[in-house]
Amino acid sequence: MQTDICEITQSSLEQAKEIILRGGAVAFPTETVYGLGADARSDAAVENIYAVKGRPQDNPLIVHVHRDYDLSELVYDDCSYAKALREAFLPGPLTLVYRSRMRVSSKVSCGLDTLAVRIPSHPGAQAFLRYVDLPIAAPSANVSKHVSPVTAQHVYADLNGKIPLILDGGESSGGIESTVCDVTGDFPVILRQGLITQEMIAGVAGKCGVYVPKAGEQVRSPGMKYKHYSPRCETCIVNSIDEAKERLDGYRRRGLRCCVLCESAIATQFSSVPVLDLGETPEEMAARLYSLLREGERIADAMVAIRPNRTDGVMAGVMNRLNKACAGE
Ligand code: AMP
Ligand code: MG
Repeated sequence: MQTDICEITQSSLEQAKEIILRGGAVAFPTETVYGLGADARSDAAVENIYAVKGRPQDNPLIVHVHRDYDLSELVYDDCSYAKALREAFLPGPLTLVYRSRMRVSSKVSCGLDTLAVRIPSHPGAQAFLRYVDLPIAAPSANVSKHVSPVTAQHVYADLNGKIPLILDGGESSGGIESTVCDVTGDFPVILRQGLITQEMIAGVAGKCGVYVPKAGEQVRSPGMKYKHYSPRCETCIVNSIDEAKERLDGYRRRGLRCCVLCESAIATQFSSVPVLDLGETPEEMAARLYSLLREGERIADAMVAIRPNRTDGVMAGVMNRLNKACAGE
């Protein structure tokens, strides 16, 4: 299969709609990462997404809709704090998990009675979703467990030959996936950290929990089980410059090409290896993380990441991705 990369125009939107209507998958830009979208109502279209990505079948997908889509067709959307969250943050990088009306393929939620819905703010995503005017199931447009794509070229590198079309909307500005927040209970609970923080949600809803899976309990958000977001080189994560230098020595003794991933404040501490500079602010680090992880796997056999020494704002989301990227199987 030939994979076209097209800017978003009337004719590429027409092409995208045709592909979606015949059950195929289209990659499209969002403000977080690129998505791989298909008709959420069709079992076969949703199965195709899992097949293209090599994604485990127990890891549910998010349904994407345009800003004027009637949510009540898909989910029970009457919870008052959920309404307040939508008014405050949507369209934007926040996915809400509702009780489902079971109107889309059961494969989207892997048999759960909930449905995750997102209204992205990216103009290209809105144009695509409005043009097809269907609920579009979409995970990130990467091979399962690999680093999420933030450019059309990243998608092409992972899925060339496996999908017919990538809509090119430039580089995603946010950089990490949406915050996933359960709104089925008495108060919101974050299932996956992201650009909309716990503080921001609590500021609107009065209270906001963060779900931590307990040993032995069946996980509510299966995505949390896996090694994820990982570059295709050896990785490790350390807490200090000294520790990083030790790990670098070890890798070098094995003959591996190395690189370091760290925040700007300590980037000058390394002179003999390429340094991938995450930047200074949490927002900068979120925006650069995935491009740098892909750059690291391109230039090196082994990457030493140094934990940024901050926990404010979106750093919870950044650290969650960085830890998973550098985690063992
Ligand atoms: P991605 O893999 O980037 O597409 O992100 C999708 C993630 O959203 C999954 O890995 C889950 O963690 C989460 N998710 C989707 N649907 C649900 C749901 N019904 N309940 C809980 N989490 C969900
Ligand atoms: Mg993903």
